[in-house]
Amino acid sequence: MTEEMLNIGIVGHIDHGKTTLLSKLTGKFADTHSEELKRGITIKLGYADTILENKEKKRYISFVDCPGHEMLMATMLSGAALIDAAILLIAANEGIKPQTKEHLIALQAKNVKNIIIVQNKIDLVTQEQALKNYKEIKEFTKGTIAENAPVIPVSAQQEINIDKIKDLLLEIKIPERDTKSAPEFLIARSFDINKPGTKIEKLHGGVLAGILKKGTIKIGDEIEIKPGVTEKHANQISYKPVKTKITSIMRGTTPIKEATPGGSLAFETELDNTLSKTDFLSGNIASSPGSLPEITETIKIKHQLFKELVGEETAEKTITQIPPIKMSEMIMLSINTTITVGQVSKIKGNEIEFKLKIPVVPIKGDSVGLARNIHQHWRLIGFGEII
Ligand code: GDP
Ligand code: MG
Repeated sequence: MTEEMLNIGIVGHIDHGKTTLLSKLTGKFADTHSEELKRGITIKLGYADTILENKEKKRYISFVDCPGHEMLMATMLSGAALIDAAILLIAANEGIKPQTKEHLIALQAKNVKNIIIVQNKIDLVTQEQALKNYKEIKEFTKGTIAENAPVIPVSAQQEINIDKIKDLLLEIKIPERDTKSAPEFLIARSFDINKPGTKIEKLHGGVLAGILKKGTIKIGDEIEIKPGVTEKHANQISYKPVKTKITSIMRGTTPIKEATPGGSLAFETELDNTLSKTDFLSGNIASSPGSLPEITETIKIKHQLFKELVGEETAEKTITQIPPIKMSEMIMLSINTTITVGQVSKIKGNEIEFKLKIPVVPIKGDSVGLARNIHQHWRLIGFGEII
């Protein structure tokens, strides 16, 4: 029996039932971070894992949720490149809503082809309404990446058809992983696992949890964490990378010696717990020493805007063109698990340079989600790639 790993994004409009479904699929609640935007603008992704199995295979599945941030999820998705497949929830009693559209556009931009559509809250509608909503979903996905996606009628709350979703999750094709490049581990959370009063010789080092995007990590590896920790000198904040060593690795509750991409994982380090506690390092990237580029507050990307603005309904349902990005404009950029605001400092064709509010690790080729503030809302307008 093969053991496989998969990262699944749970997306859809607010209140359509993402968190409820997640808890039914995993038996856990991922909605545990009340201050996801703490530390300025690093999003703490919600993770919940589960193991699914049938006669032929066993899969370790990590669900990536963006608790309470449906507005930012599309931007996050287009900058993160860490999901293999997605579950798109549409509440049958409400139908297609602004974030439903934005999230589908983001999945399309990321070329996430494996999509399962969950028509949720069927307990709240008549059979007739369910059919009408089903037709609306088919119309909505026509010509998109989700055109042939299965649509499963579900009641997350009443636990109807949860098994069907599980069956489909076991069928999704596992994408090929890059295990050879230098590791790129996105730290979603960091914490101290010691109980108060633990004897010094028994103290565990700081634990880092997140997703390995590329490469392979193993026990004993030296790692470097960037941007690192902040230091304040004469009111100037600077960042200092942190070096440490991996002392153990866990996938869920199973200790492993080596990890490759797919599924979330956690590893213990020799880090002083004052550095890792309370998610101090979330949003950072860990790699082998010297392999990550210098952090920067200026990045260059090449970009592409969408043909039209999606999301918010306009009364007349007119198509809204997206004007090009202008000099000095403030754009919200999502890079890996960091969301930061950048001001446009240069434009040359589709190449744009931004001055960022918080520094990032500019890994060439990494994707960037672009959002513009329109009527007080950050709306996904396109995506790019670091050059
Ligand atoms: P999220 O914002 O997408 O994460 O949505 P939640 O999971 O928080 O759900 C929003 C509300 O809808 C909660 O009050 C849930 O109890 C309720 N809900 C979720 N799924 C269902 C369902 O299948 N049927 C009904 N009747 N209510 C549901
Ligand atoms: Mg939720």
